[in-house]
Amino acid sequence: MNRIAFYLASGCSGCEMSFLDLSERLLDVMDGLEVVWAAPLLMDSKYHDLAELEDRYIDVAFIEGGIKLDEQEEIVRLLRKKSKVLVAFGVCATSGGIPGLSNFHSREEVFETVYRKSVTVDNPDGVYPQTTTLLNGKYELTLPTFYERVVPIDRIVEVDYYVGGCPPHYDHVAKVLEVLKKEPPEKGSWITSGRAVCDVCPRNPVPKGEKIKMMDSVKRVLEIPSDDSCLLEQGFLCFGPASQGDCRAACINVNMSCRGCGGPMPSAGDYGAKVIDFISSLIEKDGVVDEISRAYPSLARLIYAYTLPSALIPGRVRKYHVREVD
Ligand code: SF4
Ligand code: SF4
Ligand code: SF4
Repeated sequence: MNRIAFYLASGCSGCEMSFLDLSERLLDVMDGLEVVWAAPLLMDSKYHDLAELEDRYIDVAFIEGGIKLDEQEEIVRLLRKKSKVLVAFGVCATSGGIPGLSNFHSREEVFETVYRKSVTVDNPDGVYPQTTTLLNGKYELTLPTFYERVVPIDRIVEVDYYVGGCPPHYDHVAKVLEVLKKEPPEKGSWITSGRAVCDVCPRNPVPKGEKIKMMDSVKRVLEIPSDDSCLLEQGFLCFGPASQGDCRAACINVNMSCRGCGGPMPSAGDYGAKVIDFISSLIEKDGVVDEISRAYPSLARLIYAYTLPSALIPGRVRKYHVREVD
């Protein structure tokens, strides 16, 4: 690996920032690497520069963010053509990430909220962005088309490697680069330690030879853990059993439950289904399920906060109308 590239699609740029989080280690990690194209951040390279490169000129392209616009689809397809190896970098690229939560809504609802209803918006005529606008009657201006749903990049092009995290932990970023330089795994793999958050969690009861306890009640994150035992046992919805632990249990170390930004364990299948599976296996007392529904009225948004576009059902299927009863 020598020539690398970066592209930010439907993400926030936090994944690229995790490279910068390497601080002075960045010099060692990037030794021998040349960034030949990066947009729209880092270098502001132009799309035509990418189009003009020879096919497979780039050794490794890192794509951050899922696909929500036709422009992003076009550039990701182009990067695939120009790169030997393509990495879905961060949970937005692998699984849709937080922008993927918009899949619970139609495009119309997203536009209505963003361009009309938001308190900071001043748009008295309720104008939406148009894909084509004629300026002064003669200049045609264009904007990208906004898709109905966010999709992970492997729905558009073949992905060689997946890296989880929102963003990936900087230590893991260093390891990813090392792996890609020295011994890349089989194509289509996640580059991960292979350990779940529970495996690296200081609250995991299993190493002490104890069995995990059933959940007696449900707690919200604003409550304070009562002791150093497993958060799930204490009633916090912690998704550590299903999530990749390349972050070294960063949230648990500050007494927060895992929300699954590391991405699903490669064996997990549908992430939300896995979460429901292990949570339900810890409930035997009547009333706990009702407590969960009351504490988390939008549970689907919580358990699919990072992975909805990659789920078996990747968004809202239809709108339900509840008939009022007299
Ligand atoms: S994975 Fe997180 S940090 Fe990376 S682009 Fe998406 S939202 Fe930003
Ligand atoms: S469920 Fe959460 S708190 Fe419990 S061991 Fe796993 S990561 Fe740690
Ligand atoms: S503990 Fe979970 S939510 Fe927190 S950084 Fe790690 S994977 Fe992400």
